[in-house]
Amino acid sequence: MKKIALVTGGAGFIGSHLVDLLLKKKYTVRVIDNFSGGHKKNLFHQKKNKKLIIKKIDINNLKKNNYFFKNVSYVFHLAGIGDIVPSIENPQKYMNTNIQGTINVLEASRFSGVKRFIYAASSSCYGITDPNIPSSENSKIDPQYPYAFSKYIGELTVLHWSKVYKIDVNIMRIFNAYGPRVRTTGAYGAVFGVFFKQKLLKLPLTVVGDGNQKRDFVYVSDVAKAFYLAAKSGYKNRIYNIGTGKPKKINFLVKLLKSKKNYIPNRPGEPRSTWANISRIKRDLKWKPTIKFNNGVKKMLLNIENWKDAPLWTPEKIKKATKLWYKYLSKSQKR
Ligand code: UDP
Repeated sequence: MKKIALVTGGAGFIGSHLVDLLLKKKYTVRVIDNFSGGHKKNLFHQKKNKKLIIKKIDINNLKKNNYFFKNVSYVFHLAGIGDIVPSIENPQKYMNTNIQGTINVLEASRFSGVKRFIYAASSSCYGITDPNIPSSENSKIDPQYPYAFSKYIGELTVLHWSKVYKIDVNIMRIFNAYGPRVRTTGAYGAVFGVFFKQKLLKLPLTVVGDGNQKRDFVYVSDVAKAFYLAAKSGYKNRIYNIGTGKPKKINFLVKLLKSKKNYIPNRPGEPRSTWANISRIKRDLKWKPTIKFNNGVKKMLLNIENWKDAPLWTPEKIKKATKLWYKYLSKSQKR
């Protein structure tokens, strides 16, 4: 068997770390990316690696007989679009890319007979969760905005293809991934990029609400490892949470960053806590998170200069950027 893997969205944050891991495992890696959220610089350090081939392809235009899928064993599908506000502004674009785009990648995979298809899903499918109970893969599904909805329908689509066309798949519900190359461009959100830029400029960090909300932050190299194991595993057609099971308060992150705080209003439609029950992935894939939160943050801080070109989010800019968010996701809205 040829060791060839294909990563859609391979120039993105998580995708590029997965590419690094696959190259380390001696795979030939083919990347497709349209460079909307991904960047060439995320793979620049692999420039001289002859086992890496990058093609600019938009999954929206991918044909099922695309030759790039030929002889590929594993397809890791990470291409997609994120963020809450733009998904509320333009739901069609999200459905097209995250659902129809996924169908295009599934069809190309089916046509070339790949061994396993791994889908990058989002923990946002769980919606507003009970902060006292970790989400397990069987927990209630309740997406709160079009991005979360599109990623969830993507999951159902992948499972349907597996059922009808007998493609082996696994679905990875990623909680709050963080680490080097975490996305900073584009819409407001993704707390690390926001805080690091503020810290670089010695400004107070814009803490949402009381800052006691928790997120299950999981380090990106651990996420990449989980994807790899899900491709190699005897377990298939399963859904796996990827988190640490140990959510951290935003105030704790602020403490690690040794910065002042500036409180901004609560964001409607977001959970008080994201918290993964990771029993299944630990049991089946023998995966466990290896990077402790303190150490992950420390590692990132060593290269905080990388965030110097990130957009600066001030409370005023945030207020403007989240107008639609508050309009549509606020509980008080009239129906
Ligand atoms: N957050 C914050 N200030 C910001 C941006 C985010 O306090 O300027 C908090 C936010 O309330 C959430 C956490 O950071 O609890 C993670 O937010 P992000 O948008 O990164 O992820 P998500 O809310 O989708 O989990």
